[in-house]
Amino acid sequence: MVRLALIIFTLVMSTACGTFRPARYAYIDPAFDTYVQTFESISNKQVHAIMIFADIADEEVGGTCTNSEPPLIVIDTPYWNEITELGREQLVLHELGHCVLNRDHKENMLSGLPVSIMYSIHFGDEWYYAQNRAYYLQELVYGH
Ligand SMILES: [Zn+2]
Repeated sequence: MVRLALIIFTLVMSTACGTFRPARYAYIDPAFDTYVQTFESISNKQVHAIMIFADIADEEVGGTCTNSEPPLIVIDTPYWNEITELGREQLVLHELGHCVLNRDHKENMLSGLPVSIMYSIHFGDEWYYAQNRAYYLQELVYGH
């Protein structure tokens, strides 16, 4: 009976919502799946994190990373609803840069444009992110 209950519990946990990863406790809201898959394919790292939505009180903040165990990424729901697909990608990749790659902000500019996704101001909706996406993804992983 205990075994049956465990099997049922496991089935419910794996189908109810989001992506539960087996190695250790983690939960990723399904809205982030596409962007997490992009991150995993470019970085060759598996994401073990809690990634959720919340209404972040600070209007200037679109997302946060807390380096807990597992890391916690919170994305601001109202901001998420305002931005484009590429904007969402850049926001998620930025927070994964902090939480998985341990990257800090990089404020360097080239010809007036940020050289990194790790720039402290979100720019995923801008033309230069779309035009230079391949470069920005590479820079996120390799730092140049
Ligand atoms: Zn940041």
